[in-house]
Amino acid sequence: MTRVANSLETLLHQINARFPGRNIASDGGVGDAAHQAKGKASDHNPWYGPGIVTARDFTHDPTHGLNIQEIADQLLASRDPRIKYVIANGRIATNRDWQWAPYDGANPHDKHFHISVVADPRCDEAHPWNLPILGGGGGNGGGTEPGMFVTCGTGVNVRAEPRQDAPVVAVLAGPTRVRVGCQTLGGTVETAGRNNAAWSHLPDLGGYISNIFIDHPAAWLPDVGEC
Ligand SMILES: [Zn+2]
Repeated sequence: MTRVANSLETLLHQINARFPGRNIASDGGVGDAAHQAKGKASDHNPWYGPGIVTARDFTHDPTHGLNIQEIADQLLASRDPRIKYVIANGRIATNRDWQWAPYDGANPHDKHFHISVVADPRCDEAHPWNLPILGGGGGNGGGTEPGMFVTCGTGVNVRAEPRQDAPVVAVLAGPTRVRVGCQTLGGTVETAGRNNAAWSHLPDLGGYISNIFIDHPAAWLPDVGEC
């Protein structure tokens, strides 16, 4: 099943939350006809791991506060290790030197900016992007952050509701650093002789995972409120 890398789903949630009502005319995730034209390789086509798309486009909409040059510059300044390259306003910068250089692709990317993330497990790291334009607040530069946990297991489903039969909204390919907003009692999940009825809400991914997949000895997480 094709899906977009979890780090880019987090970025989408953060941008949507920060700029309500923004124009999404030039947004894109999974490859559209233009990106797939002539069979050219594109990070918008699923190619990493089990059908993971490692790119997203976000529409330029300064009226609602989303200036693509501003956010692209801040992405480069963040040196976030999940970034592979960014394209905006006729220029491209990669994680090799984080410097803008002319982009000679057919689409100048002046109506949207493009971000590709690395094709390795880091692309599924779902912790928030720490950009001033998004209100900062993503991280404190080290130490133990409240509400941050690491998941365990592979192919862990993030679900729309705290039940095993609820729709899947994201998949955690492997251990992933996640922010838990609150927790609640839901469907009991059993694995490896243990069971747990608590579920954690992951606001950056817009869904819940069973606490059995949180790498913490307590079934009910300490210092996390009830939803
Ligand atoms: Zn693109």
